[in-house]
Amino acid sequence: MSSVPTTARLIDGNALARSIRDDVARRVAALAARGVVPGLAVVLVGENPASAVYVRNKVKDCAEVGIASTLDRLPADTSETALLERIVALNADPAVHGILVQLPLPEHIDEHRVIEAISPAKDADGFHVSNVGQLVVGEPLFRPCTPYGVMKMLEHAGTRLDGAEAVVIGRSNIVGKPQALMLLAAGATVTVCHSRTRDLAAHTRRADILVAAVGRPNLVTADMVKPGATVIDVGMNRGADGKLCGDVDFAGVSRVAGAITPVPGGVGPMTRAMLLVNTIEAAERGAR
Ligand code: NAD
Repeated sequence: MSSVPTTARLIDGNALARSIRDDVARRVAALAARGVVPGLAVVLVGENPASAVYVRNKVKDCAEVGIASTLDRLPADTSETALLERIVALNADPAVHGILVQLPLPEHIDEHRVIEAISPAKDADGFHVSNVGQLVVGEPLFRPCTPYGVMKMLEHAGTRLDGAEAVVIGRSNIVGKPQALMLLAAGATVTVCHSRTRDLAAHTRRADILVAAVGRPNLVTADMVKPGATVIDVGMNRGADGKLCGDVDFAGVSRVAGAITPVPGGVGPMTRAMLLVNTIEAAERGAR
């Protein structure tokens, strides 16, 4: 990737995430002076290897900035009732400011029921309908980490959102939909494209801001991008060469775009950092 001549400005997710972590660490220290230690409870059910890696990273990230984290590793055959009981206990624990149940859950557990059991005031992922509803009408307590991180990247890149044409590809509950709502709240004119969109390129070519959150390597090519646009690549895929890649043909698109995020080193580290932000914000709210 580094050997590709680029014209687009690179939006460096690693560097921005680092500065966000530094800020969180300062806020943790300020709370410590008042006797408050922010706490994140992570719950993992089963042995999904990808989930195990994500959870390990979350615990490590917390330790780095001084957030106290706990990890409940529950066996794959944990009953839904037992998981719900654990969540009730975490909801009541004053040392816990954020709760995160790693998804996906084993098939015998109703994911929706589990998310809705988490107190909206501790919903570190921002997936509870109360926070989703607040995202629609006002100020949520928590915002989903990935689209929240994208907003921070756009802010950092100095991309004008007010009145801009924003196109989001993907309509999932964890990325596409909340991303569209956040861009709308920031004053953009938002189009959401998805698997049933008829002429994807006709939409993307209008975009001042293009966010790709699909899961298909090279879905977005240079001819689909408006010159000078800001292109955010949320996708995380394994390319044919086994390497991590996004949804955007980086080599081609970076010759057209004005600013672009790389994969790896773009949205991924920001998603991790925003979980820490959500946790410190919750602890600060609790301390008020
Ligand atoms: P998802 O599978 O839930 O949703 C994918 C969306 O893409 C769907 O809404 C679908 O309609 C749309 N889509 C599929 N094919 C399409 C096509 N040909 N044209 C236009 N739209 C199409 O996925 P998700 O959970 O939203 O994740 C999307 C991608 O982002 C994945 O690669 C995932 O790994 C990645 N991701 C990355 C991070 C990160 O931190 N970097 C976080 C979450 C997800």
